[in-house]
Amino acid sequence: MRAAVLQAVGDKHLDLCYDIEMVEPTSHEVVVRITHTGICHSDVSAMNGTIPQDVPCVLGHEGAGVVEAVGSEVTATQPGDHVIAVWSPPCGQCEVCLVHQKPNLCSAIMYHPDRLRPPFSQGGTDIAAMARTGTFTEYTVLYEHGVVKIDDDIPLDIASLVGCGVMTGVGAAINTAKVQPGSKVVVFGAGGVGVSAIQGARIAGAAEIVAVDINADKFDKIKEFGATHAVIPEELDDLKSELTSGHGFDYAFECIGIPSVMRTAYEQTRRGGTCCIVGVGRLDEFVQFNAFELFYNEKKLIGSYYGGVDARVDFHRLLRLWRHGQLDLEGMISRRLTFDQINDGIDAVRRGEVVRQVVEF
Ligand code: NAD
Ligand code: ZN
Repeated sequence: MRAAVLQAVGDKHLDLCYDIEMVEPTSHEVVVRITHTGICHSDVSAMNGTIPQDVPCVLGHEGAGVVEAVGSEVTATQPGDHVIAVWSPPCGQCEVCLVHQKPNLCSAIMYHPDRLRPPFSQGGTDIAAMARTGTFTEYTVLYEHGVVKIDDDIPLDIASLVGCGVMTGVGAAINTAKVQPGSKVVVFGAGGVGVSAIQGARIAGAAEIVAVDINADKFDKIKEFGATHAVIPEELDDLKSELTSGHGFDYAFECIGIPSVMRTAYEQTRRGGTCCIVGVGRLDEFVQFNAFELFYNEKKLIGSYYGGVDARVDFHRLLRLWRHGQLDLEGMISRRLTFDQINDGIDAVRRGEVVRQVVEF
């Protein structure tokens, strides 16, 4: 089958392969025919070493498709079901899921022995799957908790986006930061995740939503998703003075993954406000805070992992918002690509040109 493989960290392009094989599913696994996958910046970050990644590896973690086969003990899904892949599925039974009530942080399935074996191979060489998901492929094998069944009438292209970028951004606003009605919000980075944070802030009732991006060509488009203002970084201080009397924003979301922007997001947050880090930076890069300001400003500095998702619940919430016209998913698809165009899509992400691109198999 076809799959896009990262052969070595640092490679600029993925190896488009046509002879990839998949392991047999275990009794608790599900084979999914991937019909659509989004390209997330995290895929590019796995390529350049920002996100640690075993290689060779089938990238992609934002996908949807149709269940092709299920293991003998799988009960929640059956062949023919339309599903979204979950890159960090909850087991629903552990202390993290039940006591901490943080299903997005459950690692029981992520590191389940079934999922630790490489799901793909090529000519006898094992091939890993990004986030144990691997959606840049025609078929993938997922643990049963790693799929969420959706209604058959939901188009699978927009469903795929819910699997990462949309859930992460909307969830950061409504689950993690819990944006309040009437608040003032700034979002750094208007890619798929940032635009979703903008939409999440709009859904939560924010009064002002400022998008900050280096790519001004995107600004008209970004406003269609609910940003009330869009500026390049150099213009932000003036706008902050105008909108907040210089106090800063109630909420700031960093949706890029750059330490200096994380620091700026903290500075743009008002005293007592919330600075939410969604972007993923490198393990060996650091953000500095002086030992006085953390107490003095009383800002809440919080990370958001997968938008605080409980995939079993939140994917359906987002799709209901979409159904009733409150979450624009179609508008987020900047380009539709074939498998052979995946590397063009990767380059477009690097240039910051797109909101989201969807690859159709
Ligand atoms: P993207 O590449 O689509 O968008 C990034 C945007 O930031 C682009 O519009 C680009 O023009 C802009 N940008 C780049 N440098 C900038 C700067 N210095 N100042 C202002 N704007 C700048 O990325 P995406 O797919 O939306 O992902 C965004 C980040 O979120 C990535 O770091 C990704 O790894 C991360 N992510 C995190 C999670 C999570 O669970 N927290 C999940 C998915 C993605
Ligand atoms: Zn992602």
